[in-house]
Amino acid sequence: MSNIIDTTITIVGAGSAGISIASRLLRRAPYLRGKVIIVDPAEKHYYQPLWTLVGGGAANIEDSVRDQETLIPEGAKWVKDTVSELVPEDNLVLTRNGTQIHYKYLVVTAGLQINWGQVKGLEESLGKNGVCSNYSADYVQSTWEAIQNFKGGTAIFTQPSTQVKCGGAPQKIMYLADDYFRISGVRQKSTIVFASGLPTIFAVKRYADTLEKVIERKNIETNYRIDLIEIDAEKKIATFKNLDTNEIMTKDYDMIHVSPPMGAPPFIAQSSLADADGYVDVDKFTLRHTRYRNIFAAGDCTNLPTSKTGAAIRKQAPVVVENLLAIINNKEMNAKYDGYTSCPLVTGYNKLVLAEFDYNKNPQETFPIDQSKERMSMYLLKKNLLPLMYFNGMLKGVM
Ligand SMILES: Cc1cc2nc3c(=O)[nH]c(=O)nc-3n(C[C@H](O)[C@H](O)[C@H](O)COP(=O)(O)OP(=O)(O)OC[C@H]3O[C@@H](n4cnc5c(N)ncnc54)[C@H](O)[C@@H]3O)c2cc1C
Repeated sequence: MSNIIDTTITIVGAGSAGISIASRLLRRAPYLRGKVIIVDPAEKHYYQPLWTLVGGGAANIEDSVRDQETLIPEGAKWVKDTVSELVPEDNLVLTRNGTQIHYKYLVVTAGLQINWGQVKGLEESLGKNGVCSNYSADYVQSTWEAIQNFKGGTAIFTQPSTQVKCGGAPQKIMYLADDYFRISGVRQKSTIVFASGLPTIFAVKRYADTLEKVIERKNIETNYRIDLIEIDAEKKIATFKNLDTNEIMTKDYDMIHVSPPMGAPPFIAQSSLADADGYVDVDKFTLRHTRYRNIFAAGDCTNLPTSKTGAAIRKQAPVVVENLLAIINNKEMNAKYDGYTSCPLVTGYNKLVLAEFDYNKNPQETFPIDQSKERMSMYLLKKNLLPLMYFNGMLKGVM
């Protein structure tokens, strides 16, 4: 017999967006205590932005993780289960363990799915023989091992042509590796290759100009519009497809850091909430679903035309909360999201370019300094301050 739950608000996904929204909502509207459910099977919550530094040996994985139960805000109930189906026509969410959750309002915050299987040979070779990735709690530490074990030769860093969590992360780890190879004395007998499915180093010219200079200074070889499609871990050969000509080419490597293809979670893509690409189809200003008036979404699982980051969620969460409360109270929605996102582009140990911009790719910088420059102060902000602000501010619904 299936379990049936009736609730006012259901939040699907307790990551950066889900917890921020739940906490802020319950702070703003204490009358909703006991009427909010958060569904997520994950017992651990990760501050994923720290993984760049973990992979580069500059932070510990333990500092990026908290037990999920310590983050669920008071007044919300955690259903530790996986959502298997969304049935918005019936205001219904179905879970893998057979629970039916009926809601009045739904907030979808289920993040991006990592599609390891889309690169042949990748899943089985991860974490061994120089194949590593910062995009997994299980394997991020293997990046630091691979960097330390690299004794010269070719080091490849990939970026897929799909959407990714934090558009800058695939190259940030490369800059740290380059720095480390200089310290360990192997840089002179090494070639570093950035193999990207995208057409340029970064989408915003102001920051791309700086990164081009970093690439030149560090003598990194760049290849654009190519996607990694296969890894032969035995022979240490990576196979790429040229996205313009469909030509297949191979490269020998001694170490390879893979940023895998990512996409919308299938349970969203298969629902009527999805757009043609599988992401939750929301109004880009109000964050309400374009067809269902009682549904909102935020974070990586949406089709918002901005870079997918935790920093973007910090600005999206208040908009979802204000507009959701307006709908609940039969008022007009006044809050608007302008596409703000931020990418702290680590360019070496102690160097960082803090990119901040909106939907129009106009800079929206926080500090009264030229943020397009590499700065130690911004590196220290990322390493020491941002994790504190995340766990003590954003996830508590106060910033
Ligand atoms: C290596 C790396 C570096 C990054 N660097 C930065 C950075 O420097 N700055 C920055 O701002 N951002 C960065 N990010 C991106 C940032 O971490 C994400 O954008 C952010 O975590 C997205 O939040 P979210 O809530 O949308 O998804 P997530 O935080 O990923 O949470 C999604 C949640 O949904 C749950 N879920 C999934 N499917 C289901 C289901 N079927 N049922 C129930 N629950 C489900 C998951 O268990 C998870 O808890 C980085 C990410 C990575 C991996």
